Amino acid sequence: MIELRDVSKVYRHGGREVTALEGVSLRVAPGEVFGVLGHSGAGKSTLIRCVNLLERPTAGEVKVEGRDMLALGPRELRQARQGIGMIFQHFNLFSAQTVAENIAYPLAIAGWPPGRIRERVDELLSLVDLSDKAWAYPAQLSGGQKQRVGIARALAPRPRVLLSDEATSALDPETTRAVLGLLRDINRQLGLTILLITHQTEVLKEICRSAAVLERGRVVEQGKVIDLLALP
Ligand code: ADP
Ligand code: ADP
Repeated sequence: MIELRDVSKVYRHGGREVTALEGVSLRVAPGEVFGVLGHSGAGKSTLIRCVNLLERPTAGEVKVEGRDMLALGPRELRQARQGIGMIFQHFNLFSAQTVAENIAYPLAIAGWPPGRIRERVDELLSLVDLSDKAWAYPAQLSGGQKQRVGIARALAPRPRVLLSDEATSALDPETTRAVLGLLRDINRQLGLTILLITHQTEVLKEICRSAAVLERGRVVEQGKVIDLLALP
């Protein structure tokens, strides 16, 4: 479960202030795929980064799986982040590492023994249907394949929550549907809670049950996608 209560974020640079989020509250139920829709600059990226504290909110409460994220010390926060996977628009893969090494990375950081890492990586490669690309480098993959590596890497430590930061925005419509299909399967099979941000209503329609609409840092609507996108 993910819960934001009255979250605000103000960026300060020199004397300039930008309010990216203002009084944002939302609740993502366990096992749900929840979308945040908004135009560029609405605050979506800030919002999703406030969940795993890549950005620290200026005010408000953030709870993930019952944990009060803002109350955690550095060691507890590192541990909590093991339970929160993240995927990105531009995949953020290491270009000098193979597909298998990219997927193994978070497990090596977490101190898994090499034998278990190998087993887990094989399992993940088969989950995202890339077993034949284990030794390939990211530059040798299509966009859709790169994002499948990103998904496998995010799932490696068996998180309960997955954050998706415009994960399909760099992909063509057909690849977008395939990647969203994979996320839907993962949500169903693993009961993973997914919070995704997007500027595309098509993405909401494809996999989200509930969503919030963000405008200028504020949630202006929240509810079932079927109601939010109903024509007037
Ligand atoms: P979105 O993801 O919806 O495009 P962002 O969260 O990236 O929106 O940005 C929201 C607002 O916060 C924008 O006005 C943006 O310029 C500003 N912003 C985002 N990140 C920073 C930052 N690191 N420093 C200053 N302003 C920022
Ligand atoms: P996508 O629509 O998934 O982004 P692309 O249009 O980038 O796919 O690639 C189409 C096909 O070409 C894919 O099957 C992919 O495996 C292959 N491909 C793309 N780039 C390379 C590359 N640098 N080396 C080998 N095969 C590639």
